[in-house]
Amino acid sequence: ADFSDQSITARSIPIQPAFYDFSLFPEYKEFTTMEWYYAKQKYSKNQFLAHVGSSDATVTLAGRELINYSSYNYLALACDPRVKAAAKQAIDDFGASTGSGRSITGEVDLHQKFEQEICKVLGTEDAVVSVGGYSTNAFTIGYLCRPQDLIIYDELIHNSALVGCKMTTSRRLSFPHNDYDALDRLLTEHRGKHERVLILVEGVYSMDGDIPDVPRLIEIKKKHRALLMVDEAHSMGVIGPRGLGVTDYFPIKASDIDILYGSMSKAFGTCGGYVAGPKPLVAILKNYAPGVLLYGAAPTPANTAAGLESLRIMQSEPERVARLRANADYFLAKAKENGLDTYNSKDSGVVPIMTRDSELALWLSIQLFDAGICSFPMLYPIVPRDKSRLRFFINCNHTQQQMDETIDCIVENLARAPKSKGVM
Ligand code: PMP
Repeated sequence: ADFSDQSITARSIPIQPAFYDFSLFPEYKEFTTMEWYYAKQKYSKNQFLAHVGSSDATVTLAGRELINYSSYNYLALACDPRVKAAAKQAIDDFGASTGSGRSITGEVDLHQKFEQEICKVLGTEDAVVSVGGYSTNAFTIGYLCRPQDLIIYDELIHNSALVGCKMTTSRRLSFPHNDYDALDRLLTEHRGKHERVLILVEGVYSMDGDIPDVPRLIEIKKKHRALLMVDEAHSMGVIGPRGLGVTDYFPIKASDIDILYGSMSKAFGTCGGYVAGPKPLVAILKNYAPGVLLYGAAPTPANTAAGLESLRIMQSEPERVARLRANADYFLAKAKENGLDTYNSKDSGVVPIMTRDSELALWLSIQLFDAGICSFPMLYPIVPRDKSRLRFFINCNHTQQQMDETIDCIVENLARAPKSKGVM
């Protein structure tokens, strides 16, 4: 049977090598051109290097210890001895895999304990933990929205959410970054034409490091009786006095947000994703949504135990979040004082240093690398060409000296930067 939704074309297409030879696929041609350029610039040597040891305020790549701004292990929990011990214990207790999906025999009490702890911390009715951060975001959106529905998203939402949107046949509209009036206008115009309406935003935008006005978004979603989903990948463990995300940062209740999604690969220092919210939402995701739990394996015992231990440490050692906050504030203030363009960054763990030129971003990244500082460039298509930048993830273990050295190095290099050749 043919289940495709494309109508079969009567036109016959001559079969060409470009249809079955990967080396002739257009993206491979582009990739090899970029490889050539990167190789010329020494950059490719820095990519895909295997690190040894931990990856927090510093990272050891190719035998060199670098000050590290490219890991989102914000609270340095990935290699915390207690987190590692919890993961090892889980392997001893349950093995390296649960051997199946959660609804069959893959469930272990660690999954339930992690979900209970998330609910306790956030104040949600229920939660579900799933195997991948990216996939949980994509499949949650992908399942909840149907052809008669509308998804409205901030133009800067993460690729995992965009892919989730593309899984649906819902109407999809974007609004300019943090432009709440535009969102309100779009809803006024289109709300009445659709059944469910899902608004997608992030707690901290992963490229710009800024925080949206969540109370305003709640007001708007209530006015239009829409659903609000917040991606807490870079806000959970990072913002708010206790580091517990948007519901800690703003005077709001978790019940004001319909869907709180989080990734465990950032502050949690492990891997996986979760969704927290009302009981019916979690019941739907657990029992119906492919890719959240159904048709896939359970999160590994080690990852789940590590996430649970990290969540406990976040609460019992608030000084980690305090250090992260102080470091991020220090780095941002120092960058601004030195005339660097930090764009929208505020109150988060992400500080972009804008070059607004791809070649300059690449060149600067290489100079920093050579000087012992690791910050990878963010280039097109991740960001528009005129928004190229270096992105700095701040870590609770960065020292003032490391941050001073970094800012000085950026300033010195920008002062002697070559003029772009317009190649990229
Ligand atoms: N959402 C955002 C905002 C992200 O930045 C990322 C990954 N960097 C994800 C979701 C996906 O999470 P993971 O990396 O854990 O798969």
